[in-house]
Parts: sequence; structure tokens; C-alpha cells
Amino acid sequence: MKNEHAILPERSQSIRFSECSGDGSGIKCESESVSGAVSQRACVFCGARVVLNPITDAFHIVHGPIGCASYTWDIRGSLSSGEDGYRNSYSTDLREKDVIFGGEKKLAAAIDEVMAIHSPKVIFIYATCIVGIIGDDIEAICRNAEEKYGIRVIPVKSPGFSGTKKTGYKMACNAIMNLITPVELPEKTVGVNILGDFNLAGEMWIIKNYLRKIGVTVVANITGDAKVDDLRKAPTAQLNLVQCAGSMTYLAKQMEEVFDIPFIKVSFFGVLDTSESLLRIAYAVGDTETIQKAKAFIEEEKNRVIPLLNKYKKNLEGKKAAIYVGGGFKAISLIRQFSEFGMKTVMVGTQTGSKEDYEMIQHLVDEDAIILDDANPAELESFMKKMGADILVGGVKERPLAYKLGIAFCDHNHERKRPLAGYEGTLNFASEINLSMNSPVWETISQGGMKYV
Ligand code: SF4
Repeated sequence: MKNEHAILPERSQSIRFSECSGDGSGIKCESESVSGAVSQRACVFCGARVVLNPITDAFHIVHGPIGCASYTWDIRGSLSSGEDGYRNSYSTDLREKDVIFGGEKKLAAAIDEVMAIHSPKVIFIYATCIVGIIGDDIEAICRNAEEKYGIRVIPVKSPGFSGTKKTGYKMACNAIMNLITPVELPEKTVGVNILGDFNLAGEMWIIKNYLRKIGVTVVANITGDAKVDDLRKAPTAQLNLVQCAGSMTYLAKQMEEVFDIPFIKVSFFGVLDTSESLLRIAYAVGDTETIQKAKAFIEEEKNRVIPLLNKYKKNLEGKKAAIYVGGGFKAISLIRQFSEFGMKTVMVGTQTGSKEDYEMIQHLVDEDAIILDDANPAELESFMKKMGADILVGGVKERPLAYKLGIAFCDHNHERKRPLAGYEGTLNFASEINLSMNSPVWETISQGGMKYV
């Protein structure tokens, strides 16, 4: 069926109305962005940095022009319970002369400088676009530095042109495997690893607290509020919990193959997903007591939170939501959350969703909903207008698109400051949606004829 709403003909296969194909499998995803479409998706290097930056006692040297290093903790934070070395940014600041004569000496000098001032346990060295072109041998430099200083110096080959943001996730996962793979496999302990929560506003602490309450031990957080020594214990865990499936399924599969750790996908967004996930974890690793504790905790939290959510529900019911987020699993959780609030999702898209994610999304939304992969601003604006969205949930790059159209916005990305995970996060989310969507400003804009200008 011809998709008459796609803005560029080359993008038509990446945009679907639910009625276009039976099972959602038709959508084109996990592919390079179309040239000239001005994708909302960031580059390979950015994908790698998202995953590795939250390791609180790691140091990160961006080998490239200073512009690549502009992605810093200050822009996209994650919280730490102790160390704060990760909040600093280091760059080799490559210039024209380095591009001509090579940047290897500069990189070796940057490592020496970091070592002279700090005492890192691990340094990640990111290769950016220009390094991929001039061919600096960063692996050799990392090896030399490891011999010289006796610490881990790990290359992260992430030139922006070498794939999609998801390629960057893979490069980061390879770097984590490089860091945590021991010479000999250790004895197993009782406990789980949490993969793919980045502790943006303290969510890792919320999840760990829930697990502690039901009697499940956490061996390592990967990578929110992570410490290098804890990460090294990760191979001893009995189960991996994958929260951000887009970035961490690859690592979970690697760990299953190398360390024999099975994994399950979980989500702590919304009452339904949080409750289901806790119960599945209890059944997977706990005994009868753990399962009983989980059931009691879920019951207690539901009794506390649902009456409060019902108060918001009166203001939210019947409204229309648009979603554009990084991963498919988060999009799925958000659709479910909006259903819990009595809202309808009319547009949903992701930067890195997989075929399976889109199949699930298609089953969750109504027939007329628009589903799109790797969207650009023109498409998002056009579809929000067409579908009459009342609110957009997205990240910092989507915020101005919504506001320019006079549509409310809720930040569900790395820039937010309020936790949105777990039962308390669901209350925060409902409160933000309510406050943003029902602000009198939208009425004023409509009256002035400015909505959708
Ligand atoms: S695309 Fe290349 S040059 Fe641009 S930020 Fe990414 S790594 Fe740097």
C-alpha cells in the first residue's frame, strides 16, 4: 500500500499506518539513515558514550575534534553515589595539522596527562570520524599505555560514519566485555546484574531498593552508578535483567555465551510493567519466600499508588499522546502507561527499535496510529499535527518541535531530573503529563490562533 504521508519517498518503508500491514514486520528499521532526511538519531560515537559515560570511576578521552566531545555529563547527566571522575570530559582536540601528520602522539600525551593528574582504574579511548579516516592505531596506543601504567586502557572504535547509533551501543558493549572478562571464569554467586539503566535521575537506586525489599541481591549495575570493581564481579551473577533492550541485548547475549548467564527483559516504567517485572525476577531467581515478598510488596505499592493515579486519570482520559524515544522497549512501556491513564497513543516512533519491537508496538496501538522508525523533524511535526496529539514524550531534540506547534511535552530522555521508573516514577510521570498537557498556556495559544502555526 502506498504511504502517501511519508515526506521523502525514500522514507516510505520506515513509516507505517497500522492498517498498512498485518503484523508490523513490514517496517524498515535497524538500517542507516536516509541521506538528507535529517535524522533525529545521534551518531555511533554518541551511542557508545551514552552507554559508557555513567561508569562513575572511569575516564573518557574523546580522540577527535573538540566538537565531538561537546556531548558531556553536563548535557546528559547520570547520578553517582560516590565517585565523580566521569563528570569530566577529555579530548585530544585534533586540528588540521594532526589530520595531516596523525594524532597518535597527541593521544599518548593525553593519556599521560590524565595519569599525571588522576589515578583512573580504566580509561576509554573513543575513535571518532576523523580518526577512522586518518587511521591512527588506537589499539597499539592503548596497549602501550596499559603496559606503561598497569591499568586498563580500552579502545572504543566509534567513528560516526561506521553505522548507526546502535553500532555505538555494540562498541560500548564490546568495551564492557573487554573490561569484565576474567582470565578464568569465577564461581557463581546468588544475585542479578541490572543492564541498561543509566541512573539518570536515580532510577537505578529505585530498582535496587525494590530488589532489596524482595530479597534479590544485585551484583553489578551496568552502567548507571557503576564502579569498575563492581563491574568486574558481573560474570558471577546468576541472571541478567535487561531494562534498555536497545542498547543492552547485545551485551546480555555476549554474557550468556561467554559467562553462561541467562537474561530476561524487564521494564520498570508504569505500574503494570514494574509489577510484572518484579514478579518475573522473583520467580526466576528467588525461592518461595522471595515470591511471597514480591507479591506482598507489589500489592502494597499498588494499593498506595493506584488511588493517586486515579486522581490524575480524570484529567488525562481521552487525550492523545505522541511518543518518540530511543529504544523500542521504552516505547512499548510508554504505550502501556498511557493506556493505564486512559489515553490513546496516536503516533509512536523510535531511533533504534527492532522488528520485534515494532511488531509488539503494532499490537498495542489502535488501527489508525502512525508508527515510524528513525524519524526526522518534518515527519514528527507533520504527524503530530495530523493526529491532533495533545502531548509529545521524547528527548531534548524533540522538545522544541512540540513547543513550536503549541503541543505539550514531557522529557523521558537523558536530560530529565525527576525519576520516572518504578511506582514513584509512575506518579511523577502522571504528574508531569498532567501539568504539561493541562497547562492554561495551550488554551491561550489556541485562542490566539497560534496552535500548529
Ligand atoms: S558524526 Fe563523527 S564528527 Fe560528528 S560527532 Fe559523531 S564522531 Fe564526531
